[in-house]
Amino acid sequence: MNSCGTCSALTDSYGRTVRSLRMSITNRCNFDCIYCHNEGDHGSKGEMSVENIANIVDAASRLGVNKLKISGGEPLIRNDLEDILSSLPELRDVSLTTNASMLKGRAQSLKDSGLDRVNVSLDTLDPEIYRTITNCSKGAFEKVLDGIHDAVDAGLTPVKLNMVLLKDINDADMDSMLEFTSQYKGDVILQLIELMDFKDVAQYRVNADEVEKKLLKNATDVKVRHMHHRKKYIINGAEVEFVRPVDNTEFCANCNRLRVTADGKLKPCLLTNDDLVDVSNASLDELPSLLQLAVSKRVPFYRNK
Ligand code: SAM
Ligand code: SF4
Repeated sequence: MNSCGTCSALTDSYGRTVRSLRMSITNRCNFDCIYCHNEGDHGSKGEMSVENIANIVDAASRLGVNKLKISGGEPLIRNDLEDILSSLPELRDVSLTTNASMLKGRAQSLKDSGLDRVNVSLDTLDPEIYRTITNCSKGAFEKVLDGIHDAVDAGLTPVKLNMVLLKDINDADMDSMLEFTSQYKGDVILQLIELMDFKDVAQYRVNADEVEKKLLKNATDVKVRHMHHRKKYIINGAEVEFVRPVDNTEFCANCNRLRVTADGKLKPCLLTNDDLVDVSNASLDELPSLLQLAVSKRVPFYRNK
């Protein structure tokens, strides 16, 4: 039992309280991005049922979790995503991370089923570079842009564009992405992401300090976000964030999420796999103690020793 004032049932031994679930609902994907980390979930084949998912989120919400991010693989591959959303308890924030290639025509039904907002992976506005990065089929890029428009129209805002920075591939595309973002006047935010080396892609890593310097130089305003003390830059009216998870002790020290794999395992950290807790067959009664067990296994991957 914790004795500190701000701790809860899901506070780990490093004083970090879990408030957020990042849940993969499938490992399947219609793309094959050159860098994809698949949320650190590589082996699993099975998928949780709607009931399974609802029970895990319900149990977590009773222990203080108030945010859910649904991810994958590509979560829109599941036709029962609306059923999943409708089955969830009341949460402060429910979001979806998607490549958006199948979002057009579905954004409103997702909103009506309880989705608050979407993050869309968009690394470039150049169709050829897009295909090089994602290995997608012809025509997918145009569908992604349509999907972003539909998401804004449906009020799944702010839509965050996730742009993974890749040296000599898309690092020259930041300005066009900023211009695209600013056209949406606050309904779209650009989130730059530092590449994590999951598929031997170290040669594509950009110099993150240089990127940060460029953002600072061009910004008319800079705000600091509470989570990870991350900075928000305002550039030509567009809001830009830069996520730097690599070798970042501050990032890990402020991490408040617990992951769930597509086949129903609680995953304490993106970067470790020897600490999974299976909840695929757990009852509602068993879930609270299994959630606490997973939280007790949380260790900041990057930490000052
Ligand atoms: N298919 C969905 C999508 O692409 O948005 C959801 C799953 S994808 C694994 C979730 C996010 O992880 C995407 O925004 C993607 O850009 C990011 N991502 C994947 N591999 C990464 C890597 N090696 N480094 C940094 N971000 C990565
Ligand atoms: Fe990975 Fe998402 Fe790309 Fe699919 S679309 S390969 S899940 S980053």
